[in-house]
Amino acid sequence: SDKEGLCDICQKVKFADGIGHECNFCHLHSCARCGSKAPIKNGKFIWICTLCRKKQDLLKKT
Ligand SMILES: [Zn+2]
Ligand SMILES: [Zn+2]
Repeated sequence: SDKEGLCDICQKVKFADGIGHECNFCHLHSCARCGSKAPIKNGKFIWICTLCRKKQDLLKKT
């Protein structure tokens, strides 16, 4: 499809590698602007998209 290789969040950015970053939670593929690294144990990182980050921020505020 035409959307192949596009960011699942903004659907505008085309991935240079054809894959992008996969969100650890919802498994959508997002560009660097639509997600960010989140540190976990042992100095490792997971990728979290902006949508899931917003959800988590809401949970933290309660
Ligand atoms: Zn994007
Ligand atoms: Zn996500």
